[in-house]
Amino acid sequence: MLKAVYPGSFDPITKGHLDIIERASKLYDELIVLIMENENKKCLFSKQERLAMVQTEVAHLPNVKVDIGSGLTVQYAINNDAKVMIRGIRAVVDYENELQIATTNMMLAEDIETIFLLAKPQHSFLSSSAAKVIAQNKGDLSRFVSDNVAKLLMEKL
Ligand code: ADP
Repeated sequence: MLKAVYPGSFDPITKGHLDIIERASKLYDELIVLIMENENKKCLFSKQERLAMVQTEVAHLPNVKVDIGSGLTVQYAINNDAKVMIRGIRAVVDYENELQIATTNMMLAEDIETIFLLAKPQHSFLSSSAAKVIAQNKGDLSRFVSDNVAKLLMEKL
């Protein structure tokens, strides 16, 4: 059984994240979406809130599980017998950061492969931070996040 982990902040989960989840879920027997804290970002939603939010978004995907992580994602993968780490790449700006993370993970656990899925063109300028700015300014979120996430964002802000 081939298991993959898709780690991220998901603060909040966007249509771009969901697309990566849907596509990765077709490639592996089981996909775990792992809610992490990113030291460089201050999250708007707590890990528990993000867990509940992501669970709602992936309810239609039977082989996708959602979990909260801490510490090293490669350690989580080893502990959960997952051989693959999924990350998404939108544009060249993501590449440098993702290269650094994937290379570090390779040095920590060489048996775990990072697989990059390219964002669909319609999602390549879509980010959680943009969704938060749009919500703050009461703009149209429909192309960025689901109706449920838009509602949660509006309530929070
Ligand atoms: P992190 O703080 O770990 O970067 P994010 O939630 O911002 O967490 O992103 C998780 C992963 O999803 C990253 O690999 C990121 O590049 C990717 N990602 C973010 N937005 C999109 C999008 N619109 N389309 C495809 N991949 C995306």
